[in-house]
Amino acid sequence: MSGINGDQSIFIGCIQMQLRALHLCSSDEEALAVSEAISCHDTFESSFHYLENVVHSFLDYFADELSENEVKSAVRSAAIDCWGENAPILASPFKDVPTFTKESSYAADCSDEDATNASQLDSDDDGQLIGEGECELCERTIKLTRHHLIPKSTWPRMKKKLWNAASAIESFSSEGDLDKQNFLRENLQKSLGMGNITDLPSTISHASIRNYLSRVCFVCRQCHSAVHSIHPEWELATEFNTIERLLECQEVRKFAKWANKQRPGRNAVR
Ligand SMILES: [Zn+2]
Ligand SMILES: [Zn+2]
Repeated sequence: MSGINGDQSIFIGCIQMQLRALHLCSSDEEALAVSEAISCHDTFESSFHYLENVVHSFLDYFADELSENEVKSAVRSAAIDCWGENAPILASPFKDVPTFTKESSYAADCSDEDATNASQLDSDDDGQLIGEGECELCERTIKLTRHHLIPKSTWPRMKKKLWNAASAIESFSSEGDLDKQNFLRENLQKSLGMGNITDLPSTISHASIRNYLSRVCFVCRQCHSAVHSIHPEWELATEFNTIERLLECQEVRKFAKWANKQRPGRNAVR
């Protein structure tokens, strides 16, 4: 890119470091290109106004991956790396108004709940019933809740692991000799803690990771609570992340079988 002076290229380098540290880009080249795009505005100056513009373009790129506050703190760190103590202070230019990035609006309407606290579920729209149909575990026709097969609390850690394993995952998915594939499969299983890795996305990008992580199933409230009390979230994310695998768990199967015989009660379909 032309027209970048020395100071600005230092700032771009500092943003690039933030992108790499946050695992937002898979290579230095990508991080550099994105940093340039984020950092180049009409003027380049050590000012609050300039940093505000940087935060806005940063959010344009990564609204799905980071909250506004995370973006602000990354830009703040880059500014301090670049200008030291003289860096302009990036106050909260957006006040504390909640922002509706794609991810947070998604979280608002279908967030997974901590299904262990039934009364909290009732008052919190986090645990809203989302419709009626057949529970995928107990097979009763009943009011249903949405369960994230990979619980949201594990997403940051899962994202990191998937990015770190990206090249292995991609070579595992492409055609290759069997010995190498088996070797990669074993290593991946170890590093990702996956009971089964064949359903990983074949190419790792923000979009493919998001699709992979946002898979849901529809279960009744009783089955939902049971699943969460039987397995910790990391176990759900890495071992019991499909309905089939949930049903392979003896305890879950036993509960579903029992629930199947119970009346739906207040969750009955009218
Ligand atoms: Zn059920
Ligand atoms: Zn759940």
